[in-house]
Amino acid sequence: MNAFDEELNSRLAEIRGQGLYRQLSRVDSPQGPRVEIGGQSLLNFSSNDYLGLANDPILKEAAAAALHKFGAGSGASRLICGSLAPHHDLEDALAAFKGAEAALSFSSGYATALGAICALVDNNDVIVVDKLVHASIVDAARLSGAKLRVFGHNNLNDLAKILQWADRRHAAPPLTPAGRRPRTLIVTESIFSMDGDQAPLRELAALKEKTGAWLMVDDAHASGLYGKSRRGLPEELGVADKIDVHMGTLGKAFGAAGGYICGSRTLIDFLINRARSFIFSTAPVPAAAAAAAAGVRFVQSDAGEQRRNRLWSNAALVSRHLNTQGGAIIPIMIGGEEKAVQMAAALRKEGVFIPAIRHPTVSQGQARLRLTATAAHSRAEMEQLLSALRAVNLISNS
Ligand SMILES: *Cc1c(COP(=O)(O)O)cnc(C)c1O
Repeated sequence: MNAFDEELNSRLAEIRGQGLYRQLSRVDSPQGPRVEIGGQSLLNFSSNDYLGLANDPILKEAAAAALHKFGAGSGASRLICGSLAPHHDLEDALAAFKGAEAALSFSSGYATALGAICALVDNNDVIVVDKLVHASIVDAARLSGAKLRVFGHNNLNDLAKILQWADRRHAAPPLTPAGRRPRTLIVTESIFSMDGDQAPLRELAALKEKTGAWLMVDDAHASGLYGKSRRGLPEELGVADKIDVHMGTLGKAFGAAGGYICGSRTLIDFLINRARSFIFSTAPVPAAAAAAAAGVRFVQSDAGEQRRNRLWSNAALVSRHLNTQGGAIIPIMIGGEEKAVQMAAALRKEGVFIPAIRHPTVSQGQARLRLTATAAHSRAEMEQLLSALRAVNLISNS
């Protein structure tokens, strides 16, 4: 082994020592209620494919049609080689779905956060994020160079204090070199990805109005699932029009891959000019855009509503046994990292795939099993899940 690999090996040993070593589990089947891993068919309660669309014929046919018409590759960045029709089609579908003026799609949710946040704020500005926001937002905030402040999870008092501090900071001259006012951007998730709880969006919107801060909401785990038209949690809470920047991903309820921003036409034109992860990156392949557009349309259909109802009834069944809140993300708190990995392995022996989530995805000592219900699970599969949870003592036998 050369010196380079030796050094990395000793770093890996440290990761192993902390119970934080990660490995890929090769899957030899499509995503769905069951997956094949190591020759074994496992019940899959690990994915964010909440509505069971990832392997749906409607999405696959849309992807195949785009593949045949527009090819396998996309050529270059959309600003360089021309912008393929499936991307425009997807953005039209997204804007219509969200009731927004316009939308812009990115290669992933991660790239969306990076591109949008770094375009909107720089080292003259302040960015304030919830303690539990997704790593993509934390990384974007750091990369932007804006002054980063973190408020306690869903803690409005804490946020209000930070906003007052930011106001005082902004009031002091000088203006930015470009002569513009420094800004404050608040970023939160709607449904938190690892805890499944909700952000108080009404109160956040009120604080935003009071202070003149900008508000960006990452609706990754609620778009397609919440609200009368399934537009997401902002719709459900009646605050969609108070949010300046709607962010989401196409890889969860929509069943495909990619990310998006919805908002005003001006916002989207600005991002086309300033979002570096959009400008300096090859466009997603046409098949991905077409699958996502089909997912967005599916969600709005009657079939989409049926899937949502199935999802909620499956989620409610597990939640009743685990005494959780009833959303699709059901964290089973374990605590220790090693212990969480052992529990995941024990469940795998029972034929159920639920991943152990550890630091740095969650805080140290807060390892958990992250169980996600989907619409694709049958009643019999849900009963099998409950039996497995009983077998490893995660729910009582009574
Ligand atoms: C999954 C996720 C992202 C990243 O989206 P990708 O499309 O997977 O890159 C961003 N924010 C939240 C809250 C997420 O859960």
